[in-house]
Amino acid sequence: MPDSKMSFVPPAPANDWLVICDFDGTIAHVDVTDGVLSRFALPQWEAIEADWKAGQIGSRECMARQVDLVRAPREALDAYLDTVEIDPDFPAFVADCRARGLEVVVISDGIDYSIRRILARHGVDDLPLASNRLKLLGGDRYSLEFPEANTKCSAGSGTCKCQVSGRRASGRSRLLIGDGSSDFCLAAEADMVFAKDKLLTRCIERNLPHRACPDFASARQLLQRLERRSVHRARGGAELHPSVSPVISLETLVNG
Ligand SMILES: [Mg+2]
Ligand SMILES: [Zn+2]
Repeated sequence: MPDSKMSFVPPAPANDWLVICDFDGTIAHVDVTDGVLSRFALPQWEAIEADWKAGQIGSRECMARQVDLVRAPREALDAYLDTVEIDPDFPAFVADCRARGLEVVVISDGIDYSIRRILARHGVDDLPLASNRLKLLGGDRYSLEFPEANTKCSAGSGTCKCQVSGRRASGRSRLLIGDGSSDFCLAAEADMVFAKDKLLTRCIERNLPHRACPDFASARQLLQRLERRSVHRARGGAELHPSVSPVISLETLVNG
């Protein structure tokens, strides 16, 4: 991140982080959107998926077309969603963050209806959520709307995580926890990434500040360490090295 960008705002307090969690593959072990499509969409959904995987269309176009193909009575959709488990340590992770005064938000390129229902079943339904919006058209039909899309973001995703989180953070450092390509645009800007799978590979390839984080049990431990290091930085590091940008400092402190 260029220093010029940081110089316009005073640095956030070291422990003042916005914690941004991906949903599919991170909070939920599975990709719930894929779960819905594989059960309820007309077979053409897979050709659209192949176009997305080949980079021919963005996830926004991909999901809009795929959700048009879903044929599921609401009760059938709900019955599937009620089988989806989340990482068992996620509620405790949220409690840890709140005990430290850190805000946790869910920012997902998945489907708001699914996420809210699944989180509610696990007692964590009070988290702010930014996601694609499912419109119930009646009967067994649905469409997807994209209130958080950003045509300026190269990712072409339905929900642009870099834009939404930047607005929400308003000066706080951003910690991203995620696993996949929907996290890439934000990972390039985040102050720290707890990453697994494709996102971990991306962070390594692009030399982004990160820690390998396979699950929320691991995230709970990393959070303690992050906070300790941040406090350490606030007490001495920043004063000793005022010209070092926060991103570099954190990368050195947390990865080093
Ligand atoms: Mg994901
Ligand atoms: Zn973006």
